[in-house]
Amino acid sequence: MRLVLLGAPGAGKGTQAVFLKERHNLAHISTGDIFRENLKNSTPLGLEAKKYMDAGQLVPDEIVMKMVGEKLAEFSPDDGFMLDGFPRTVAQAEFLEGKTKLDGVVLFKVNDEAIVKRLTSRAVCKDCGNVTNIHEHDKCPSCGGELYRRDDDNEETIRKRLKVFHEQTEELIEFYRARNLLLEVEAEGTPEEIFSRVAGMLKS
Ligand code: ADP
Ligand code: ZN
Repeated sequence: MRLVLLGAPGAGKGTQAVFLKERHNLAHISTGDIFRENLKNSTPLGLEAKKYMDAGQLVPDEIVMKMVGEKLAEFSPDDGFMLDGFPRTVAQAEFLEGKTKLDGVVLFKVNDEAIVKRLTSRAVCKDCGNVTNIHEHDKCPSCGGELYRRDDDNEETIRKRLKVFHEQTEELIEFYRARNLLLEVEAEGTPEEIFSRVAGMLKS
């Protein structure tokens, strides 16, 4: 199975990807994670991407498409995967269409104010990547690791990311609806509740 996870920043795509990976044995391809990994290793790609990420803007299409193209080339035709954070523009979606056939696009629906609240309190584990809440934990509840806040999780940048989502990514909803691929999920509630909705949709 090949899926795209679509939704605003902070809609919970990464959290649901962890469940989907377990249940359906799908590889998780997160463009944001790939950029952050590159940045950690100070690669030219990472340093270039950082300029845009810190400003809450999209990394230019050519850079992202090249990176994703290389990533997809690692998979055999029968391998399943889910793309998290890609595509984010119509140009990226058209590029993807030329590379692979999708089985579905899961749209995570959350209102903007809920997102600002989520992201301003989001903390990520340095060791296992687990996402948690700074008001509830001071260490990772799953592995005891140290928690950190992403540079782009401050209110000003969050609002810019949301604006970019509405201006450049939201039109993908129509793009995929027109192709009969869209699976819409109400994404407020606990991660488990949301996953049971996702699992139900994928079954039918
Ligand atoms: P979020 O969905 O929480 O905004 P991500 O981790 O998916 O965060 O992405 C972080 C940043 O990486 C984005 O704000 C953007 O700058 C860059 N990025 C990730 N994926 C893409 C993409 N497909 N196209 C352009 N930029 C991207
Ligand atoms: Zn951890």
